[in-house]
Amino acid sequence: MNNKCPWCGSDKAQINLWLKDDFLTKEDFHICECLNCGLLYTMPRPPKEKIGDYYKSEEYYSHQENKKGFIPRLYESIKKVNLRHKYKIATKGLEVGTLLDIGCGVGDFLHTAENKGWQCTGVEPSDDAKEIAHKRMKAPIYRSEQLEQLPDKSFDLITMWHVLEHVDDLKWQIEQLQRLVKPNGRIVIAVPNYKSYDGQFYKEHWAAYDVPRHLNHFSRNTITKIFKANNLILERTTKLVWDAYYISFMSEQYRNHAFPLIRGAFRGLVSNCKARRSGEWSSLVYIFHPKTENPK
Ligand SMILES: [Zn+2]
Repeated sequence: MNNKCPWCGSDKAQINLWLKDDFLTKEDFHICECLNCGLLYTMPRPPKEKIGDYYKSEEYYSHQENKKGFIPRLYESIKKVNLRHKYKIATKGLEVGTLLDIGCGVGDFLHTAENKGWQCTGVEPSDDAKEIAHKRMKAPIYRSEQLEQLPDKSFDLITMWHVLEHVDDLKWQIEQLQRLVKPNGRIVIAVPNYKSYDGQFYKEHWAAYDVPRHLNHFSRNTITKIFKANNLILERTTKLVWDAYYISFMSEQYRNHAFPLIRGAFRGLVSNCKARRSGEWSSLVYIFHPKTENPK
């Protein structure tokens, strides 16, 4: 079993948390902290050919469309507001150009951007999601490994919305980002933040650990350091406020508490209030640019 840090390759690590796949299989996992670079990562890591099994669930909303019931409908409404917000964050100050969305799912973000005139490309490992995305838009959608075939410096904007935490080969992925972004382009990465209040409060039940689907767990320090090593400089961070509510609600469900919606709403509110001071939002959006050129 490969128990090396997915970023620096060190095998010196300590176990920070023992936890279960609360969402699907109830199997046991743990979170390791690399003693060399500080990255948190999930162990054991399922082999590539088996990872798809951990996504097979009716409840995996990210890849589901047109679900009935109150919670899925609420999720869909929030998703629409969130999409508009994400589009604003990612494109603020940029002229319309070429966009690559890695882990595009059913193409929600690409669809929004394509309607605004962006020349879009997607990458998605799930065949089911890819098929839906294909029907919705003109953009070509590739498999993850096909990223290597795309030409150097071809994108003004590259986005990964809650995707980098799922990536098995983190080092390769970041090298590809560095290779594909234009010298004056931008990379936008949204990931959960385990240093948030909800992350610290729910600990092993925090839904955004989501093992073993999430393999990498980032703090502000680790992600900044990792990208900087690839000449990608942090320009600024921003937040996704809805995530605190959604993650808290899911975490309450995992703990089998009564009234998870109310409890989750309360805990999400506390998390967002605390984050106003600390900056440790439940999910953070990091905006990077290549080192050598002036950012847009
Ligand atoms: Zn490491």
